[in-house]
Order: sequence, then C-alpha cells, then structure tokens
Amino acid sequence: MTLIPLPAFDDNYIWMLHDGRQALVVDPGDEQPVLQALQTHGLQLKAILVTHHHIDHVGGVDELRAATGAAVYGPAGEAMPEPLQRFSDGDTLELLGLHFTVLDVPGHTAGHIAWYTADCDGQPLLFCGDTLFSGGCGRLFEGTPAQMLASLDKLAALPGQTRVCCAHEYTLGNLRFARAVDPDNAALQHYTRQCEAQRARQLPTLPSTIALERDINPFLRSRQPAVARAVQARSTARDEVSVFAALREWKNEFR
Ligand code: ZN
Ligand code: FE
Repeated sequence: MTLIPLPAFDDNYIWMLHDGRQALVVDPGDEQPVLQALQTHGLQLKAILVTHHHIDHVGGVDELRAATGAAVYGPAGEAMPEPLQRFSDGDTLELLGLHFTVLDVPGHTAGHIAWYTADCDGQPLLFCGDTLFSGGCGRLFEGTPAQMLASLDKLAALPGQTRVCCAHEYTLGNLRFARAVDPDNAALQHYTRQCEAQRARQLPTLPSTIALERDINPFLRSRQPAVARAVQARSTARDEVSVFAALREWKNEFR
C-alpha cells in the first residue's frame, strides 16, 4: 500500500492510501488535490473516510462522491454531507483489504472519530484528524478537557510503531511550544532538528508514530513530573484534568 499526504489549503493534509489500482482518502476538505492525484496515479476512488464535521475536512466530499461514486464513511454523531455510512467506537470496516476499527475521540469536536488499522503492510496506521497532531493536539471547540485527555490516552495506548496521520502540518509551531513546556527533553530537541530539516526541504513532518509522540508531545505527557511542574508553576491546577486543561490554555495563549 502507498500512503500519500496530499497538501491542501495552507496546512491541511488529505491522506490517500492506495494499492496501485484503488484508493481511499481521509478528510478531503478540497476535491481538487484528490482528483489530480487519482488521475496522476491512474486510481479509482473507492472510499472517503471522514473524522469530523469541520469544513476543511469535508468540503470536497460532495464533489468527490459525485465524480467517482466513492462511498462515504463518517462519524455517527455529527452533521455531515449526506449520504454517508455512520460509524462509532468499536465499529469495523473492511476497505482495500484492510480492517479498520473506529475510535471515538471527542474533544476537538463532540463526535470526532479516528480510523485505525492494526495491519497495513504489517504496520498499524491511524488517521486521527484534528485530535492528535505531532507535538500537539486539537483545540477544544466542542469537548471538555476531560474528554480530550481520555481521547489522547486512548490514542497513546495504541502500539508504538503505529504511523500517525494527522490532518495538519502544525509540527514546528507545536514543537516550539513543547520546548517551552519541556525544555530538558532531549528527544524533543533531536526531533525538532529533524523536522526543521524536513520543512526546509518543503517535505511533510508526517506521519509521526505513537512511540515518538509519547516521548515528545506535551499533551501525551501532562502527567510526567517535568510537564506537570511547568504547568503548575503558572497555574493553580493540581489534579490531572486541571493540569491538562491549563496546558491547553497555555498553548492557546502561547506566541
Ligand atoms: Zn477541525
Ligand atoms: Fe482541521
């Protein structure tokens, strides 16, 4: 299987997975990059997977469905371009010979889901939309800090070698904040240099892996003493949900 991040808008990625003949895409906010990639590689679009209702993730769904006849699969609990098949936690779906499982990951939006397969050419693969970013996490537009913390815990518990396909190239900005929170983290310093080199060549920093995110992402590390201490030094947060909430607030204000 070939995995391709198709750049869209300023910093979105529309992930495409194909076997040389058939393809699926995730969160097509725009139909144009997808139509072009289908033509370039001579592919038939079989399926459109969606993680949440934001327009930069669904804006191209109607046009792609009409142009290709692809089936659309999305979250059970969100307003979506119809018709689509609706999925929630624990539901499974077979596509292009891959077995996907759906995870409910509320926080960024109330009904946000993630698509996970344990075996894509022998390696697990996760499409997590705007829940987990490399070095960061989505803003809490509809969910609570407790929900987002539980959602990130769920993703962090996936196998370490899981490739993490995030929907935005936010990595360098996230890492700048991460270094402010966790300045003595050597893995974070090393990863920053790696990502800066990628971006200097205009290459994606993604996919990441769950193992890497566990080591460098402050939002997966809010219970680590160094991270919790940094948050507590600038807030009254004490319990783990409050610390996570204060960490997310800190990021919102960080310049
Ligand atoms: Zn979003
Ligand atoms: Fe987005």
